[in-house]
Amino acid sequence: MRKFIILLLLLTLAAAAYGGYCLYQTFQPAELEYSTVELPDALPFAAPPAEMAVSVISTGQMYSRQAFTFRGGKFGVEYISAMDALLVQHPKGDFLIDTGFGANIHDHVQTTPFLMRSLADYEFTENAANQLEIHEYSTDNLAGIILTHAHWDHVSGIPDFPEVPIWINQDELDFIREAHEETVLINSFENVEYLIYAFDDGPYMGYPESLDVYRDGSLVLVPIGGHTPGSVGVFLNLPSGKRLMMVGDIVWAREGIELPAERPLLARDMVDHDEAAVREAIGHLHQLHKRFPDLEMLPAHDRRAFETLSQYPSRTH
Ligand SMILES: [Zn+2]
Repeated sequence: MRKFIILLLLLTLAAAAYGGYCLYQTFQPAELEYSTVELPDALPFAAPPAEMAVSVISTGQMYSRQAFTFRGGKFGVEYISAMDALLVQHPKGDFLIDTGFGANIHDHVQTTPFLMRSLADYEFTENAANQLEIHEYSTDNLAGIILTHAHWDHVSGIPDFPEVPIWINQDELDFIREAHEETVLINSFENVEYLIYAFDDGPYMGYPESLDVYRDGSLVLVPIGGHTPGSVGVFLNLPSGKRLMMVGDIVWAREGIELPAERPLLARDMVDHDEAAVREAIGHLHQLHKRFPDLEMLPAHDRRAFETLSQYPSRTH
């Protein structure tokens, strides 16, 4: 009997060690498989007005480990995730792209899964609406808030802008209305005015369809479903000639695009709606990055990328 118990104990230990080893492997680098996309020979034409500008509005940050942000990242390296909104100023009307942390962020965090709260700490500085008010910016200038996607950390500031419509595509609105765990927060907001847009403007940078918001090529949205069904990429073509692409949460760190690499399994399971579609989306971004190195890639949570732009109230033209 004693021998049997010892054997059982040894087997349990071996199984636990093997399980731990398998989990550890999911954090290791792995070659990403993706399809080749057909890209244009040159960057698309854009005629932004001289007054157009963008400003980063930083609302706080989250602290995690690099290992959780992309496969091959290190456990020993801290990763600071930006929680930013981007203000786009344009004579035809301004937009906020995502909202960062809102005034009620401490309540909003409680709507996220326990595992996420356990793996990352957050720090709130000031919500976007207050920062705009301090500098006497009138929210009447805002034509809308464009969401890269509807996850909690991108929508938390919505109630701080009660008069501003939320620009959304049908796929993302359907995702919101299906009431998944990931959209609990946005569904808890009352009287959100959704303005549904469609991608009516044909292929753009290898994406089958697009929406040229100002009709001058300066702000172009493309559908990149995967992380959520209606996630979008946001191209910003500035008067100085600077070219930016906001990629939302397709990757959390620019290494994801450069290597390329997906998130580790634990993170994918927690946040990605369609992991295979995310791999294809990362492959597309990787090819864009190699073909057009001047196109600055802005993953929503990569502070290093957002620090290259002016912080509100300063402006990058
Ligand atoms: Zn996010």
